[in-house]
Amino acid sequence: MEELKKVTTSQNRIDLLHASSIDTLEDIIYHYPYKYDEVTEIWPPVEDKCCVEGVIISSPKVFYKGRFSRMTFNVTIKGNDYIVTIFNRHFLRPHLTLNRIVTLQGKVEGNRFTASNILLKNLDQLSGITPVYSLKDGLTSHAFSQYVKKVLGMNIPIEDSLPIEIRETVDLMSKKEALYAVHFPMNHEQLQKGIKTLKYEEFLNFELALSYRKMQREQEVGYAKDFSLDEVNAFIHTLPFKLTKDQKQSAKDILLDLHNPTIMYRFLQGDVGSGKTIVAAIGLYANYLSGYQGALMAPTEVLATQHYSKLKKTFEAYDMSIALLTGSLTLKEKKEIYEGLESGAIDLVIGTHALFQESVHYKKLGFVVTDEQHRFGVKQRKALKQKGEGVDFLVMSATPIPRTLAMSLYGDMDVSSIETRPEGRKPILTKYFEGSSMKPFLKQLKDYLAQGGQCYVICPLIEDNEDLPLKSALAIYEAMSSYFKGHYQTGLLHGSLKDEEKNAVMQDFKDNKIQILVSTTVVEVGVDVPNANMMVIYNAERFGLSSIHQLRGRIGRGNQQGYCFLLSEAQDEPAKERLHYLEEHDDGFEISQYDLKTRGPGELLGDKQSGLPAFMMGDIFKDMNILEETRRYAIKMIHDYYKYGEYENYIEMIKKKIKKGNEYID
Ligand code: ADP
Ligand code: MG
Repeated sequence: MEELKKVTTSQNRIDLLHASSIDTLEDIIYHYPYKYDEVTEIWPPVEDKCCVEGVIISSPKVFYKGRFSRMTFNVTIKGNDYIVTIFNRHFLRPHLTLNRIVTLQGKVEGNRFTASNILLKNLDQLSGITPVYSLKDGLTSHAFSQYVKKVLGMNIPIEDSLPIEIRETVDLMSKKEALYAVHFPMNHEQLQKGIKTLKYEEFLNFELALSYRKMQREQEVGYAKDFSLDEVNAFIHTLPFKLTKDQKQSAKDILLDLHNPTIMYRFLQGDVGSGKTIVAAIGLYANYLSGYQGALMAPTEVLATQHYSKLKKTFEAYDMSIALLTGSLTLKEKKEIYEGLESGAIDLVIGTHALFQESVHYKKLGFVVTDEQHRFGVKQRKALKQKGEGVDFLVMSATPIPRTLAMSLYGDMDVSSIETRPEGRKPILTKYFEGSSMKPFLKQLKDYLAQGGQCYVICPLIEDNEDLPLKSALAIYEAMSSYFKGHYQTGLLHGSLKDEEKNAVMQDFKDNKIQILVSTTVVEVGVDVPNANMMVIYNAERFGLSSIHQLRGRIGRGNQQGYCFLLSEAQDEPAKERLHYLEEHDDGFEISQYDLKTRGPGELLGDKQSGLPAFMMGDIFKDMNILEETRRYAIKMIHDYYKYGEYENYIEMIKKKIKKGNEYID
């Protein structure tokens, strides 16, 4: 039966609910408001914004221009007169009668009041906190509120999963109270407490799932790998550089894990260019010495190919047979690799998703490394791991986050962190220009190209989009190719190209057949072209600071000076300040922390790309403390439940609680 019929008989509205993935009565109460509207007096203006009552002292005049209108009238606000201007609200004119009190929202400069909104009520008639829901057109927040009220009144079971102990220590509400508080807030204090309660609950469930998984894993037994540490050290000595302190520590962590009979689940994080690959290579070498096969999985062919050629070189002097397996190989080539993996002739295979396809069998897979973890789902990783028995597992991520946060977010794994970068690397010189013209640095770009350099140009979109006033890769590509025609070759790279096409473009760029590569963020991950040391980023305000930092990590390799130009039309001060921050900071960990503290809600390209888990209520960065606290509770709870033998029942309960779609629980 259609549950939703209990809240509305309108099929149209039910369809609209389904369109927002609201399918059950439960979904209704867990569809939280995304913001709250509140009308309170702001006067004097704060950052030239205000909200205040005024008395109308002149009849409005309306001026039309095409479809647009401008209306002006005079008001008295607290004894002073102002000229109010508002656009496209001519229909309000009949209501704006002399001496009427209205509430005005907008901006004030001198005696000019530019109103963004006129409310035909006194301030005290307007007060209260009104939840605003994200809904499809045709459904109002007000109507939705009524549904929530109905459902909450139906006495459907609402379990409290926060233990009393936490609720009392932290001073939280019951689940039901919290739901009422967020959907029908009476005041700020109650609303905040409700939100806090739901955050605790959400994070605690997440942490319980992770701790549970970790505990399960610690009981799995793998194989102790047997290799000679001297041989591994000898290999490290052949490297053309000295490992940094953090690289050494991470390598040590990995070698120990390999050596222990427990199964490695390790998360290795480090800024772009911090040298994670070589650390993984050390592990892969030890694994090889122990007589096992290794696999390195990258999210794209471009990256897999790059890892392949690098590791080929790294292990040149060794008798290790290395293969590259990607989707674009011919059937015959694939078959050959399948045979090599099955017979054990191949020691190390590097590739994409192709590595865990059904037809792939390994003779003795011992160690799996995945690069840039957020591009893979838990299922994909698992599929690869299951190609062997007791396989050790290393996940590498270039999204640097504070170590304690990483421990909370990846609490089912052990964490190694490379926080220092190799010495001698020059920070990328980063300069931010307002606007969207290359003019300010065009000469520098031309000189640089003339000296034989190559350049990336990054755009937020592939094609022009009417709804978004952003630069598209296609448009910039066309402009650049015609501008540089006859001098330099321009290439275009974006996500909707086929893998083979992407590879071809990337290869041409590497071979310097293309000098200017116009690209969307597909180029972000791990690509390494030492001769490309200049980068231009359009609409930089659209990217998270960490994303920009990762992007610019592509340049300034090979000890060359890198130059990064940020273009942005952003007008608001916070956005400008954030871009300036990048001019002065070069530490990925610091940047990610600053990014998280200052990021606005409007960033399109930040969160999704980062691949960090998303929560309904909690914000992993702003609420980092809660996350860490719930982690401590979770570890204790899991151990207690285990100790007292109520474990299995409890786990079943947790599993049910983890909302659908959460990939963190199997
Ligand atoms: P990432 O962490 O972004 O994957 P890479 O492993 O690709 O970084 O390393 C970036 C570059 O730095 C590579 O060319 C690598 O050879 C080099 N590198 C790694 N470790 C060191 C080191 N300790 N000293 C100098 N260069 C290093
Ligand atoms: Mg890398």
